[in-house]
Amino acid sequence: MIRENGVLHVVATPIGNLGDLSQRAIEVLREADLIAAEDTRHTARLLRAHGIETPCIAVHEHNEREKVPRLVERLQQGESIALVSDAGTPLLSDPGYHLVRAAIEAGIQVVPVPGPSALIAALSASGLPTDRFCFEGFLPAKSTARRKRLEELKQAPVTLIFYESPHRILATLDDLADVFGSDRPMVLARELTKTFETFLRGTIDAVRERVRNDPQQQKGEMVLLLEGAPAPAAEAIDPATERLLAILLEELPLRQAAALAARISGIKKNVLYQFALEKRNPNPPAGKT
Ligand code: SAM
Repeated sequence: MIRENGVLHVVATPIGNLGDLSQRAIEVLREADLIAAEDTRHTARLLRAHGIETPCIAVHEHNEREKVPRLVERLQQGESIALVSDAGTPLLSDPGYHLVRAAIEAGIQVVPVPGPSALIAALSASGLPTDRFCFEGFLPAKSTARRKRLEELKQAPVTLIFYESPHRILATLDDLADVFGSDRPMVLARELTKTFETFLRGTIDAVRERVRNDPQQQKGEMVLLLEGAPAPAAEAIDPATERLLAILLEELPLRQAAALAARISGIKKNVLYQFALEKRNPNPPAGKT
C-alpha cells in the first residue's frame, strides 16, 4: 500500500501563559506521530500539562540541518510531524526554517497552527503604528555591529521591532539613543502574558531612564519597539507641473486632471489631487481638514 505524505504542522506555543495554547494546537500535538521540539524537556512540561503522550525528538539550532533528511523521509512515509519551539511561533528567531524549506521542496504539506508570538503581542498593545512594521529579530551582540545595523534602519518609516536579552538592554538603549536620537518614541514590552507584564512607553531617553533606575526593568524577556522615521515630505510640485495642472483643471474634473498631470509629470496622482484640492479650496470650513 502506498501511504500518502504526512503533514508538517508548525505549532505556536505559549510565551508565558499556559492558557494561550489553542485547542487546535492541543489536538494537533496529540494526534501527531512525532513532535520535533527545540528542547524536549521544556516541551515535555507543556505536554504533561495537557496529558499528551506523543513522542518527541530534539531539533534545535545545532542539529536541525542534520536531522532534516530523516524527518522529511518520515513525512514522505506518511507520518505527521508537529514542529514546536520553546515558546511562541517556531522559525521566528527560533529553529525550524531548514525543516520547513526541505518539507516544501519535497512536496510535503506544511500547515501553520497560529498562536502566540512575542513580537505580535508586543506590537498589538504598544500603541505604535501597526500598518507597516519591520521585525529585526535580535540585534548583533557587539556594539559596533549593532550600531551599524541601527544606522541602516534609521530612516525606515515603519515601526521597528527587536528582541533583546536583559543583560544587553542598557547598552542597546544607549545605542538607540545615539543613532535614532533620544526623542524617538519607543516601547519596551517585558514579560508578556506573565505576572509582571510591563509596557514602558515614551521617548528613548525616558524609557532608558526608567530602566536605568529600576533593576526590575532590566530583567525577564523583552521586546523593543521603535516608532518609524517620519515619512519623507510630499514630492515637490515644480512650477511647470503646477501650470499644467491649472490648464487641465480648466477643462477637466479634478480627478481626471490630476490623473492626466500625473501621467505627464511622473508625480504621484494622489499628490497632485491633494494639491489641486487645496488650490481650489484653500480655506476649508472650520473643524474640517
Ligand atoms: N519564537 C518566539 C516568538 O514567536 O515570540 C521568540 C523566540 S526568541 C528565541 C526569544 C525572545 O523573544 C526573547 O529573548 C524575547 O526577546 C522575546 N520574548 C519571548 N517571550 C517573551 C515574553 N513573554 N515577553 C517579552 N518578550 C518575549
